[in-house]
Amino acid sequence: MAEEKREFQAEVAKLLDIVVHSLYSNKEIFLRELISNASDACDRLRYAAVTQPELLAGDPDFRIRLLPDREAGTLTIADNGIGMNHDDLVENLGTIARSGTAEFMRQLSGDAKKDVSLIGQFGVGFYSAFMVAEQVTVVTAKAGDAHGWRWDSDGKGSFTVTPEPNATRGATITMKLRPDEGEFFEASRLKSIVKRYSDHIAIPVTLTDGDKEETVNSASALWTRAKSEITVEQYKEFYHHVAHAFDEPWLTLHYKAEGAIEYTGLLFIPGSKPFDIFHPDRKQHVKLYVKRVFITDDCDELLPSYLRFVKGVVDSQDLPLNISREMLQHNPVLAKIKAGLVKRVLSELKKKAEDAPADYATFWETFGAVLKEGIYEDFERRDEVLALSRFRSTAGDELVTLDAYVARMKEGQEAIYTITGDDLAALKRSPQLEGFLAKGIEVLLLTDPIDEFWLPAVGRWKDKEFRSVASAAADLGTVKDDGAAEARTDEAPADEISTLIAGLKLALGDRVKDVRVSQRLTASAVCLVAESGDMSIHLEKMLRQHRQMEQEMTRILEINPGHALIKGLAAKAKASGTDGLEDAAFLLYDQARIVEGEPPSDPVAFARRLAAMMEKGL
Ligand code: ADP
Repeated sequence: MAEEKREFQAEVAKLLDIVVHSLYSNKEIFLRELISNASDACDRLRYAAVTQPELLAGDPDFRIRLLPDREAGTLTIADNGIGMNHDDLVENLGTIARSGTAEFMRQLSGDAKKDVSLIGQFGVGFYSAFMVAEQVTVVTAKAGDAHGWRWDSDGKGSFTVTPEPNATRGATITMKLRPDEGEFFEASRLKSIVKRYSDHIAIPVTLTDGDKEETVNSASALWTRAKSEITVEQYKEFYHHVAHAFDEPWLTLHYKAEGAIEYTGLLFIPGSKPFDIFHPDRKQHVKLYVKRVFITDDCDELLPSYLRFVKGVVDSQDLPLNISREMLQHNPVLAKIKAGLVKRVLSELKKKAEDAPADYATFWETFGAVLKEGIYEDFERRDEVLALSRFRSTAGDELVTLDAYVARMKEGQEAIYTITGDDLAALKRSPQLEGFLAKGIEVLLLTDPIDEFWLPAVGRWKDKEFRSVASAAADLGTVKDDGAAEARTDEAPADEISTLIAGLKLALGDRVKDVRVSQRLTASAVCLVAESGDMSIHLEKMLRQHRQMEQEMTRILEINPGHALIKGLAAKAKASGTDGLEDAAFLLYDQARIVEGEPPSDPVAFARRLAAMMEKGL
């Protein structure tokens, strides 16, 4: 078969362009990326060989070799891992298959400086070779295959794939270095890079310098070493390797579970939010090892979805080595490990929350919306997750706990009041809050989509019920006033108000469930509320956005009898009957809709009525 030429996937071409043309501040990381890939390839073969030992065919000792050749102008990294066949090559080194890539690409701005820092977080993997090389050749044979393939590219849009009958198992990556990258021929430079970034790699990395060959890393799995022998820097590099992340870990948790079930966990919570944390295909990111042998990085049984931000390694002593990935489902040992991991992570979070609240708040901003999923997904740990949860509230800018909220409750207040919406600033100004603010009652401001789901599922915190302000206006009467609220003295007379209400109902017909006097409004003229027991307006909006609901629900229109506009309309209704009320009724109704983030019921009619009213006012 002859040479086959292919184009890179558009995203790869774009990525390569940025990699090559922006001045990457630490180019040396290409070595970390390639060694990391080589080590993964060895891990994968080691696992495959548990059931198919013949794959190791006379070459059982894994290694990664660095071969600088100043005369040829090349640096070579060779491993004897699993290797790639033709289709692997085309798929792996021609596209970016990782989930979240599309999202990542959207975030690239085209501004080299900003993009470089984004790429730094994302990691460019294999393609980082083009930071230092003008030409890259990969010669590879997949374990078990009789012959191999050669991949060539200058990183400018296309690559070629050619049969390579003499390739041996694994992958050999040869980089023709750019003229100004001479430092990467120097043994001492290479050694220090490997020490710095790849010391934790469990496979020996050797450097050939002339006729000398030496091993330059510790070559023992980091998690098997004693904590006291591991530096912060080493933990961080391991995190970069295992998590494919390039930020600082927010939390590093390294422990050995002993007792009924034995395993070692080296877990990290990232410092920044991965691009794909809410991507539906996102997998959990903890790698499972059994007695040092890598088994899988795709085991959903290891951690619940609400802890999917945790990354790292779990190495079990109790699972059989030859366990198939399918067998892991419903495995009782794994279930126990999972329970242990959850307990450990949550208790570590609790410690942080207590000892370093400000630091915990940064975690909460990053992953709180994910952790909160646990409130309704993990029934057993519901209270634990609720206790770890932090909320915005009307009490100030600080995040608050439920306990702190309860401690501040007013005399006569029985429930924890909440309001849901998508935007914090808009929520803070919602008319629904007016009566509560006037009485000094704190309200939790909930803006994560998940809030709509756990609230009804949970119902209460300790002995206090959660109650939405939208259906709790009647409560306002029972909470004791501390004098902060002014009594509403200057209201329209009751008979005028009931005439107005009758007129509004007549005009609006079945667009509203009811029209009534509001207990909650102090500054606004009107608002729309859900009848208690009805779905909240915000949830309804979310469901309609996701096309899970077609029909709009009808709501209750509340009017504020103390508002000058309502007083005026009431007086007019009494004096001249309800006939002329139609325009006013629709304008009130539509403004209440707009405040809830809904469009006016009939935008054209709305504009016409508004214009007419303004004209009258001139
Ligand atoms: P990532 O490692 O993040 O998946 P890369 O671009 O670095 O992304 O590599 C893409 C894929 O190419 C890897 O997932 C792996 O399947 C394959 N690959 C890269 N290097 C090697 C290697 N040395 N041996 C075998 N496969 C490799």
